[in-house]
Amino acid sequence: MSTKKHIVIGCGVCGLTTALHLFRAHSSISTNMTLLSHHQPQEPSDDISKIIRIDYPNLRRMKEAAYAKEVWETDQCFRQFYQPVGRVVAYGEEDVETLYRIDGARLQLGMQKRERLDHQTIAKIIGPANLPPGLTFVWNDDDSLVEWKGCMQAMQDLVKRHCEEDDGSKMLELQALKLLHEGGRVCAVVLPNEEQIQATDAEVIVAAGPWITELLEKSGIAQPPASRSPVATGLFAFTLQLNEEQTLFFKGKPAFSHIGYAEFLPPTKSDGIAKITCISPFTNTESSSSLSYPRDFSGSSLAIDTMLKMKRWAQKFLPGLGGAKIISIRSYWDGMTQTQTPLISRHPQYRNLSIVGGGSYNRAKDLPVLGEEVVKMLADEPLHPSYGWHPSDDLSNQDQPRLLARGDFGDLEREAEKNPEVQAWRLKRASRIEHDYLEEI
Ligand SMILES: Cc1cc2nc3c(=O)[nH]c(=O)nc-3n(C[C@H](O)[C@H](O)[C@H](O)COP(=O)(O)OP(=O)(O)OC[C@H]3O[C@@H](n4cnc5c(N)ncnc54)[C@H](O)[C@@H]3O)c2cc1C
Repeated sequence: MSTKKHIVIGCGVCGLTTALHLFRAHSSISTNMTLLSHHQPQEPSDDISKIIRIDYPNLRRMKEAAYAKEVWETDQCFRQFYQPVGRVVAYGEEDVETLYRIDGARLQLGMQKRERLDHQTIAKIIGPANLPPGLTFVWNDDDSLVEWKGCMQAMQDLVKRHCEEDDGSKMLELQALKLLHEGGRVCAVVLPNEEQIQATDAEVIVAAGPWITELLEKSGIAQPPASRSPVATGLFAFTLQLNEEQTLFFKGKPAFSHIGYAEFLPPTKSDGIAKITCISPFTNTESSSSLSYPRDFSGSSLAIDTMLKMKRWAQKFLPGLGGAKIISIRSYWDGMTQTQTPLISRHPQYRNLSIVGGGSYNRAKDLPVLGEEVVKMLADEPLHPSYGWHPSDDLSNQDQPRLLARGDFGDLEREAEKNPEVQAWRLKRASRIEHDYLEEI
């Protein structure tokens, strides 16, 4: 049996899809894969639910997303976690141009423009709300939710099973500390306790999500060009515990997105756990370095400031959530490329090193299919240039401009610390008996 050695660093979306498709592509030979799985609460994969949608202003991205959606709907591996509940989307005046571009792309693909909704119909779908004027509401009947925790666990188990069946393959719960290199090749991956995995004869695939640039920096390896670099970009999400009545009402109901502001994802399980994400991303350039570093900011003033904003948003747009408890603040990160297309490329200076990342807050939906591109790249087959290493001036794929960082954490935190509302919340919290929740909507 011939073998080819692979080392995959990171077992989130990009790492697991890579592993899955490598096992499929090499079914007749040993894949000889070592996966390094090191999970952190700030990773985009550690989530309860994700949205699967096809609407993008860019035609090519829309086709890609439609292909991924088809696999979610038809492949039993994925279908069991897929919930076709639809989504109500609100576009403000500054974002409605995006909707027109989406409508244009839909027409080109032979689909209908998105159906506009009046306030009465919205009330029927997500309950009565105090909706402000100036918003255009549309109904995305074909959007879906994924029960994400279960899905990621199942993917991880599936890849582990492939490892067991494939002589020499294994998944190790270990962090890669850095890569050693010599003569234009990565020669070893350094693990905790000074252990090393020899890599000279392996393909090394770095799929470490928002930590990619930090790992390259620690390894003394050149970064991708600025416009293709997966810049660690953070935001906050809030876990809600709904009461029984709310769980019955919202479970199976559509998600609700207010473009550029916030997103509500109803429970995907009967536990009544839902999620609000605030769309207000930032970088974290801690020092003089030009890189951005993912860190846990869930206890920051900015996090509290954002939580209080989200509470007001929910009270206005989803009054049915009144009384729901905010039980945790999540500080999340994703790698964001300037074009919002992932980087799937060999490193030009190291013949056995590839980078797969830069999900740009929209690649969970590509879990079933993205690995196909990675397999092609490793076989030196051409990929669409937008995945490539080289800078591109083409920003037409920048489909979600509101997900690009709006500032740097340090500056935003200093502002939030001055907010009297945040100071009052901290005082109140310090003086009262601990609740098992942070805030009530
Ligand atoms: C709050 C939030 C909501 C989102 N919602 C959606 C959505 O609704 N729909 C959608 O399509 N997309 C969504 N996304 C985007 C999607 O989740 C990401 O694009 C995708 O997960 C990126 O995959 P990744 O493999 O690059 O990173 P990850 O999935 O995080 O995987 C990287 C993994 O590598 C590990 N790692 C890091 N460093 C090392 C190391 N040195 N050694 C070993 N392992 C390491 C990390 O801990 C992690 O497990 C969302 C993202 C966030 C944050």
